[in-house]
Amino acid sequence: MMQSLQRQMIETELADIVGREYVLTDEADRMIYGVDYFWLPRMLVDRGQIPPLPDMVVLPETVEQVAAIVRLANVYRIPLIPWGGGSGSQGGIMPVYGGVTLDLKRLNRIVNINVQAQTVIAQAGLNGYELECELNRNGLTLPHYPASVHSATLGGYLACRGSGVLSTKYGKAEDMVLSIQLVLPNGDIIRTLPVPNHAAGPGVLQLFIGAEGSYGIITEATMRLESLPQERRFRAFLFGTLSKGLEAGRRMMLERLQPTVIRLYDEPSTIKQVKRILGISVEEGAYMIIGFDGWREMVELQERRALAICQELGANDLGSGPGWEWWNQRYNFYFPPYGLDFPWMFGTMDTVCTFDNIENLYWTKKKTLEATYEAWKLQYIAHFSHWYPWGVMVYDRFIIEEPPQDPQKALALHNEIWNLAVRTSITCGGVLNEHHGVGLKLARLMREQHGSTFQVLEGLKCKLDPHNVLNPGKMGFGPTS
Ligand SMILES: Cc1cc2nc3c(=O)[nH]c(=O)nc-3n(C[C@H](O)[C@H](O)[C@H](O)COP(=O)(O)OP(=O)(O)OC[C@H]3O[C@@H](n4cnc5c(N)ncnc54)[C@H](O)[C@@H]3O)c2cc1C
Repeated sequence: MMQSLQRQMIETELADIVGREYVLTDEADRMIYGVDYFWLPRMLVDRGQIPPLPDMVVLPETVEQVAAIVRLANVYRIPLIPWGGGSGSQGGIMPVYGGVTLDLKRLNRIVNINVQAQTVIAQAGLNGYELECELNRNGLTLPHYPASVHSATLGGYLACRGSGVLSTKYGKAEDMVLSIQLVLPNGDIIRTLPVPNHAAGPGVLQLFIGAEGSYGIITEATMRLESLPQERRFRAFLFGTLSKGLEAGRRMMLERLQPTVIRLYDEPSTIKQVKRILGISVEEGAYMIIGFDGWREMVELQERRALAICQELGANDLGSGPGWEWWNQRYNFYFPPYGLDFPWMFGTMDTVCTFDNIENLYWTKKKTLEATYEAWKLQYIAHFSHWYPWGVMVYDRFIIEEPPQDPQKALALHNEIWNLAVRTSITCGGVLNEHHGVGLKLARLMREQHGSTFQVLEGLKCKLDPHNVLNPGKMGFGPTS
C-alpha cells in the first residue's frame, strides 16, 4: 500500500496524463475493482470483509496514455493491474499488493471492419456484446460466444485464452486473432506481425495471448470474422451412459464433421441442470446437444452423419426442439437463479486432455474429490463442452452447500480442494485450466504444472518486466521489486 505523500504524487501525475475525473480514489469506487467472479473476493464481501483494493484506479483513453501510465509505474515501482470487464473467474484483477488498477473500458472503438478480408480491428476495452452487435449489422460475427459476452472485453478474451460456446467449430479466442497492438512493461508500444501463421521465427503473438497482463497490456486486436450462417441447427440426444456419449463425440471430431457444439452432460448434471433449467424431464442417462451451421447442403450432410453415429451408439434422438431450447437458454445456466452462488462454496475446475485419458480423468477426479471431502458432502458435476480433433475439455465443478462460515477456514478448505483437483487433473494427463486462465487462484500451481519449462515463462517476465510492475502475484510470478 502506498504512503499518503507518495499516493498524492502519483495521483497528480496520473491526473496529468488522463485528466482528474479519470483517476478514482474513493473507497466506494475502488471496492468495485477488488472483486471479479472468483469465489475468494466475493466470499470476503459475503462475510463482511474488504478484499484487497487498489490504491487508485485510472481510466486512459488512448494507447499513448496507457504507455505513459506504464512508464510511471516503473518510475515509482508500483503494481499496475489491467482491468477489462472484471468478469474473470480467477482473481486475475485482484490487487494483492495494492497499486493502480488500469481500467481499459475507454479504449472501446472499432477502428475498422474490413469486409473483403473479413477482419475487424478494435480496441481492447470494447465490450464483447457491443462488438458483436456492430458486426451483426454488417452481416458478420466474431464467433466467440462466452456466457460472459455482456460483460467481458475483447482484451479480456485474449488475455485469458477464452472459449465461446461454439468453439468446437470456430476455435478459441487465441485461434481468431491475427495481430495485436500491445504496451510492453517498459512503456514501448509494439505491434505483432500482420498475420499469425508464418515462418518468420517463433510466434511472438501467442506469447502475449493468455499472459493475463503479466507481459504487457493489449490495447488493440485484429480478429478474423465469419459470415452469419445461412443455416443453423441444434439437436438433442440421450445416451444410456456417459461413456457412449464421449465415444460419439470422439467419432464426430475424428471424422471432421465440424459440429459447432457438442455439449455432453454427465448423469448428475443431466438430472439436475437439464431438468431444472431447460425444463426437459430426464430421469437417467447423459444428455447431449449437437449443432451445425453454414451452407444448407453441408449442414444436411454433416448432421446426417452425426445422427448415424449417435444411433450406432444407441442414443435416443430427442429432435431439434430441445436442442434449440438449450441454444436460447444457453447463458441462463450461469446467472441467477440458476448459477452457482453463495452461501455455497464452488469452483469450476475445467481441464482438457486427449481422448484416451478423458474418461479416466473424469472418474478419478469425481471419486477422489467426493471421497476426500465426504464430510463436507462435496458434489462433483461436469459437462464436456469444448472439443478438439485430439481431445475434449471437461467443465467440472465442485459444490459444497454448507461450507465453514469462518473466512480463514473457508479459504483453507477451498485452497486444499483446488490443490487436489488440479494435481489429480495433471496426474491423469490434463492441464491446469482450459479457458478461464490462471489469475491468483491457480498461480501457486504454475511451477508444478510446467516443471522446468517454467523457466521460459519466468525468463521472459524478468527480461520484459524487471521490476515486476505488471499484475504482480499472478501466473506464479512474485511481487513488484
Ligand atoms: C457468468 C460468467 C460466465 C463466463 N463464461 C465464460 C465462457 O463461456 N468462456 C470463457 O472463456 N470465459 C467465461 N467466463 C470468464 C471470463 O468472462 C473470461 O475469462 C473473460 O475473457 C474475461 O474478460 P474480462 O474483460 O472481463 O477480463 P477481466 O476479468 O477484466 O481480466 C481478466 C484477466 O485479464 C487481464 N486483462 C484484462 N484485459 C487485459 C488487456 N487488455 N491486456 C492485458 N491483460 C488484460 C486482467 O488483468 C486479468 O488478469 C465467464 C465469467 C462469468 C462471470
